[in-house]
Amino acid sequence: MSGFDFDLFVIGAGSAGVRAARVAAEHGARVAVAEEYRYGGTCVIRGCVPKKLMVYASGFSEMIEDAAAYGWNLGPASFDWPRFLAAKDHEIARLEGIYKSVLERAGAEVFHQRASLVDPHRVRIADGREFSTGHVLIATGGAPFVPDIPGAELGVTSNEMFELSDLPRRAIVVGGGYIACEFAGILNGLGVEVTQLYRRERILRGFDEDVRVHVEEAMRARGVDIWIGADVTALRRAEGGEIVATLDQGGEIETDLVLFATGRRPNTGGLGLAELGVRFRDDGAIAVDEWSQTAVPSIYAAGDVTGRAELTPVAIREGQAFAETVFGGTPVRPEHVLIPTAVFTQPEIGTVGLTEAEARGKGEVEIYRAAFRPMLNILAGRDEKMLMKLVVGAGRRVLGCHIVGHGAGEMIQLAAVAIRMGATKEDFDRTIAVHPTAAEELVTMR
Ligand code: NDP
Repeated sequence: MSGFDFDLFVIGAGSAGVRAARVAAEHGARVAVAEEYRYGGTCVIRGCVPKKLMVYASGFSEMIEDAAAYGWNLGPASFDWPRFLAAKDHEIARLEGIYKSVLERAGAEVFHQRASLVDPHRVRIADGREFSTGHVLIATGGAPFVPDIPGAELGVTSNEMFELSDLPRRAIVVGGGYIACEFAGILNGLGVEVTQLYRRERILRGFDEDVRVHVEEAMRARGVDIWIGADVTALRRAEGGEIVATLDQGGEIETDLVLFATGRRPNTGGLGLAELGVRFRDDGAIAVDEWSQTAVPSIYAAGDVTGRAELTPVAIREGQAFAETVFGGTPVRPEHVLIPTAVFTQPEIGTVGLTEAEARGKGEVEIYRAAFRPMLNILAGRDEKMLMKLVVGAGRRVLGCHIVGHGAGEMIQLAAVAIRMGATKEDFDRTIAVHPTAAEELVTMR
């Protein structure tokens, strides 16, 4: 047994930290965890989970409309935001309790306060106590970034979106990334008049071009007013209480809520890291090697704070790999290839592997694409199409799969398994279709 108070001190009880703490403890390590806010991190408290609940809530407006086409007689429907918030808060509290009990059952000592490093083997918590530790894992996540413009404080970030006391009548969403597009869809589905401002030429930079075009058109058709090449330069409060946004291209828009979904930054401040020699990337994330080790050998980092891929399942893998490597005696490198992901825009995106542009940069490619009205939409009288795309490379290997439409997030998980296993287009084609589904298009594309 080491002469330290703990073998591992984890700072941050989110996806990466909780997984690392539990696994390390299961391997016999004496573990401490410090968390200044709530257990579960961004994903559980103000990210993936409450966001998905909001997507569900928002999606009912469409289902209610479609229900009539399917023969249902429904009375006038209205949405009760406070009732939804209460239900959402209840569920988040339940999940938070599970995260806390995972730590407690694993035998970790939990400090509900902020922690920082004093030296590479010493952690100080906010009440002044200090503990020695063999290893430290920084798993402090990230936080929304807000542009430095006059009146920025009148806007909100995704953090506050989960706590709004009232739903606004009108909203401006600034940004064209995951969070901006997801909230634009959520608010639109809940009946808010949404204007989305994106500074470049097309939303969802980094995604396959066909996906970007398809989603942008579908979002517009559903009622999101997307302004391209537009940014906010200032906000001010008008006499009537509304917010006035000044645009870079000139002109002003009046609104009730401004959401800055303009990216996230790693939480590295106040931890004492730079002083100890921990190094950072240009974007401010902690620089780590393939084992999640920083430039200081006893200090590791995992999850969003390392900026490798800001996704919950990746953070969990990084936390697990760290604990297996350092405490389980089995070196495990977290992989960052072929990461499937879903974006809960309306319509939804599921994607894995290379985009067409990325694949073309590497050699010859064949593209298989299908855009069709799914059965659900035909009877409902909706024109919205579903998009499926396979990017096929040398040896007919499927390099990428991109889906837009109902269930895209569910479908992409299994497409990812196939692509990981090296599936060729012929493997897809040989697979018998599941009928009648939308997914069957994946194995029938010519
Ligand atoms: P992104 O980096 O995806 O998007 C940020 C957006 O804000 C971009 O459109 C960017 O424009 C724009 N922007 C940045 N700075 C400014 C500025 N000063 N003025 C105006 N616009 C600006 O970040 P998100 O916050 O949306 O998401 C962060 C990460 O969280 C994602 O990368 C993803 O990994 C994760 N996430 C995953 C989800 C999922 O899996 N479904 C859901 C939500 C988040 P530009 O393109 O020009 O840089």
